[in-house]
Amino acid sequence: MITVMKFGGTSVGSPEALQRATGIIMNEKNNKIVVASAVSGITNFLVKGTENLSSNKKEMLDEFEKKHIDIAIQLFDEERVSDFMKDFNIRMGTFRNLVEDEAASKDPYYTDNIISQGERFSTLILCHMLRAAGAKAVALTSEDSGIVAEGRPLSGSADLEKTEAMMAMKVKPYVDDGVIPVITGFYGIKGDGLPLTFGRGGSDYSAAVVANAINADLLEIWTDVDGFMSADPRIIPEAVKIDEMNFGEAAELAYFGAKVLHPRTIEPVRMKHIPLTVRNSFKPEEPGTVIHHLRKPMDDMLRSVAIKTDLSIISIGSAEIAFHPEMVSRIIAKIAENEVVIYSISTSLSTVAFLVHNNDVKSILSKVNTLDSGDIERIEVKNDMALVCAVGDNLLSKCGVSAEIFTAVKEARANVEMISEGASDVSLNFVVPMSRATDVVKILHRKYVRGGSNEEL
Ligand code: ADP
Ligand code: ASP
Ligand code: MG
Repeated sequence: MITVMKFGGTSVGSPEALQRATGIIMNEKNNKIVVASAVSGITNFLVKGTENLSSNKKEMLDEFEKKHIDIAIQLFDEERVSDFMKDFNIRMGTFRNLVEDEAASKDPYYTDNIISQGERFSTLILCHMLRAAGAKAVALTSEDSGIVAEGRPLSGSADLEKTEAMMAMKVKPYVDDGVIPVITGFYGIKGDGLPLTFGRGGSDYSAAVVANAINADLLEIWTDVDGFMSADPRIIPEAVKIDEMNFGEAAELAYFGAKVLHPRTIEPVRMKHIPLTVRNSFKPEEPGTVIHHLRKPMDDMLRSVAIKTDLSIISIGSAEIAFHPEMVSRIIAKIAENEVVIYSISTSLSTVAFLVHNNDVKSILSKVNTLDSGDIERIEVKNDMALVCAVGDNLLSKCGVSAEIFTAVKEARANVEMISEGASDVSLNFVVPMSRATDVVKILHRKYVRGGSNEEL
């Protein structure tokens, strides 16, 4: 039996958190593989650092180094600190060389390389913690582990087949020998051997990729909340923890903004029927949320709601476009040239509308403008939209439920700009202006989530 255990930034973010994480790992009876994020705040620090790297190289490196050494000094005795520093100095030397390397800085994937550095140091600390606790552990980078990635800068995907073959050679032997591999989250390695990150929050996805590759029996995501909740607790303080979800529900909610899981975490584990739990590393005694294939029907109208913000609707008008599917296909082919994500599409007799990220609008318009102008009558853009994704057992099956949901939306004085009911068999998705989205979620949660409060807005 193998359990893959992923610890997020806050779960490795302080000496106390690292001690708790070590306790959780040591208590796990199965064979285990650990995947860790960078110490909390470090990836943001690196992202900022890359924005004006030329002027502040030394300060950035010194501060980065100090932050990690300070943590190690608080955790380890003298002998272990000196052991740790041997490994630390090797990794720090590589990082310093990278920052000074003018030629490397021209590479389009250079930012991926810099911002992936945090994970290399958090895993090193955690590995030494496990050794200090008496375990056999090894700190492996994504390079060492063979996590293979492909794709555009800052938004890579794993090549699951290649990763499985690599990890069978590079990681499995450690597990068989009773050694705990502690692997860097957040990035994989491209064909040229250089890092490619999986998007912000990507360590959840890394852990799912590792679980897939190693054919794990369980994936545990250890974070700073009690589990997958009925809404983001930062927006809805009365959000309640969900005990059990199926893969489809979790996948839709994560894809549409539930930040507790990276949008692509579910697929690698769903493919291999590997159950996933979301648990609070600050309360290890709590069972958290179990996500798996089937769950008991709950008969609830609304189970969880997520919001994806910073979206735009691009509406393209063309006479009787509904009778010209080849026209729709040409527009989509043009948009696809930029590899952007389309979150929703809807059509009417003479309009096709796409929901995309605000940042992609400019490039999409420039592509669409290269189409034969005779075909297109008008293009309209509405910026700053939010997609609300609502999941619940009765949402799609029970008569009249959509009407109730949209009445609640009206109460929040929001106009529904686009609907995609029925596109997924687990969620009802609709688009409202971003400025109203939080109120919509508050009202929906208060009215329809079991355990939601009845407080007025
Ligand atoms: P980690 O560093 O452990 O990966 P993240 O900050 O990425 O943690 O994700 C956990 C956070 O996700 C929570 O603190 C919470 O604010 C937010 N969140 C958003 N939606 C949800 C949800 N539906 N359930 C639980 N947490 C959520
Ligand atoms: N450290 C990375 C980030 O902050 C990855 C992660 O935390 O999952 O985005
Ligand atoms: Mg996260």
